Amino acid sequence: MANVGFIGLGNMGGPMAANLVKGGHQVNVFDLAEAALQAAKDAGCRVASSANEAAHGVDFVITMLPADKHVESVYLGDNGLIHELPSSTLVIDCSTISAETARKVGQALAAENISFIDAPVSGGVGGAKAGTLTFICGGETAAVERARYVLQHMGKNIFRAGDTGAGQVAKICNNMLLSVLMVGTSEALQLGIAHGLDPKVLSEIMSKSSGSNWTLDVYNPCPGVMDNVPSSNGYQGGFLVDLMSKDLGLAQQAALASGAATPMGGLTHNLYRSWSQLGHGREDFSSIFNFVKANKK
Ligand code: NAD
Repeated sequence: MANVGFIGLGNMGGPMAANLVKGGHQVNVFDLAEAALQAAKDAGCRVASSANEAAHGVDFVITMLPADKHVESVYLGDNGLIHELPSSTLVIDCSTISAETARKVGQALAAENISFIDAPVSGGVGGAKAGTLTFICGGETAAVERARYVLQHMGKNIFRAGDTGAGQVAKICNNMLLSVLMVGTSEALQLGIAHGLDPKVLSEIMSKSSGSNWTLDVYNPCPGVMDNVPSSNGYQGGFLVDLMSKDLGLAQQAALASGAATPMGGLTHNLYRSWSQLGHGREDFSSIFNFVKANKK
């Protein structure tokens, strides 16, 4: 049993912390949202009144926060955890942020002899609830091995992509591909629907054909095709359009820095930004299905 401080209890962090409790760990939690704290309490976590209190005396600190600025401020801000943590702590940041910020935080913590790995995840809210996430880690091999002790209760696959920041690079490559698949799947389904096809039947056909992919088979964007996915729940409770837009921005920054050509990633970044500007930023990213809806002539 380990003592874990868990900060950021949103769509992903809430169920991840609950799975750590189920795994037998003692989990101290903090979030800015009261409702998130209450849900974590109901799941058996100990609620703290600040990030510092949640991290006090723990073996592992895990963060699951929205973006770079949140992670930077929780660790390196005026009251940041860097001033609180003993060197025995292993810090695991599971948020999706830029590789640069991951390296900045990792280096600052390393200067205080505190170990850090970036460990962004794939698998969505369903994977967070089921404890089947994929962790994509960056950092020293020994630190990644040590992290397995807690990560195994939240995920099935634990990869080491390379040194600090490498987990974030691998993660944005994955999400850029995911966004392209989601837009393509949405277009194909809308095209079929516009020609009178039943989206359930079309989905089954494509799932058993060469168009098969995760967004079609597991996370179908068309309402009513599948139960227990955001599209059948008013596009609530999944991965926000604004978070996908953020990840695609990170992918574009990385592409600019390296000179890599990412025409499809650039296109989906613009589609997701436009969809957000039209007021859909707080919906699940599969709602892009409605952006590519055919206009009847
Ligand atoms: P979310 O917006 O549901 O949750 C983020 C939580 O962080 C919120 O509860 C918020 O109150 C809390 N928070 C923000 N600032 C804080 C602070 N300073 N101190 C304490 N709590 C703070 O987001 P999410 O969907 O859980 O995603 C979290 C991260 O995981 C993001 O980086 C996202 O890109 C990534 N991610 C999400 C999914 C998904 O399907 N939702 C999948 C993979 C990765």
